[in-house]
Amino acid sequence: MADASPPIHGVLFDKDGTLIDFQATWVPLNVQAADVAARGDPALRARLLEIGGYDGETGRVTGASLLAQADTREVAEAWVAAGAPFGVDDLAAAMDRVFQAGMHDAVPVTDIAGLFRRLWARGLHLGIATSDSEAAIAASLAGFGVPAERVNAYGYDSGHGSKPDPGMIHAFCAATGLPAAQVAMVGDNLHDIHAGKRAGCGVTVGVRTGTGGAELDSAADVVIAHVGELEAVLGDRLPAPE
Ligand SMILES: [Mg+2]
Repeated sequence: MADASPPIHGVLFDKDGTLIDFQATWVPLNVQAADVAARGDPALRARLLEIGGYDGETGRVTGASLLAQADTREVAEAWVAAGAPFGVDDLAAAMDRVFQAGMHDAVPVTDIAGLFRRLWARGLHLGIATSDSEAAIAASLAGFGVPAERVNAYGYDSGHGSKPDPGMIHAFCAATGLPAAQVAMVGDNLHDIHAGKRAGCGVTVGVRTGTGGAELDSAADVVIAHVGELEAVLGDRLPAPE
């Protein structure tokens, strides 16, 4: 990082694919949600998963797909349009129940509690901005062993819009008093990086633990293998630990 770059005093993390291993955690949940949406009809379930971006050959969800990037309501809308026998509200609620229950078994990409402790020791403000619900953030933090009251949490249902709109980042800046130029936005998808750019974040960091691929390289300011490398890549822009 250049010396002229402003210091970073806040980090806003995407959740899925960034703090949580996307494929290990979400593929089973997406299959379960599609099963609920299809009311057990295997042909319909397969069609809904395909629409979502699930590749039955590899068993993975591809980047830039609905299941990789959209919020629950957007997926529910697409699935109802494709024949899922539900109203959108009912389906979204049923899917959120599956996802929230599954967060208990979410697979973290690294020791998240340790990472957050180290960043807090530098005086940083930390937040999570996700296309998942606020309740799912709380469940994830409990699973990580991170005290939820210290984390600014923004879900698709928090009233700040959805990425790539910058609303969640604006909310984080308002809550912490930080200018966006002192905030790092970290995520695995173009939605995260674009939101960070639109908000004027001091740095956008791509991670390779999610669904994003080579498109991250040209979009993000920097790309790292996983969030455990964040301190190393931000280097002198982070305040020293107290
Ligand atoms: Mg993500």
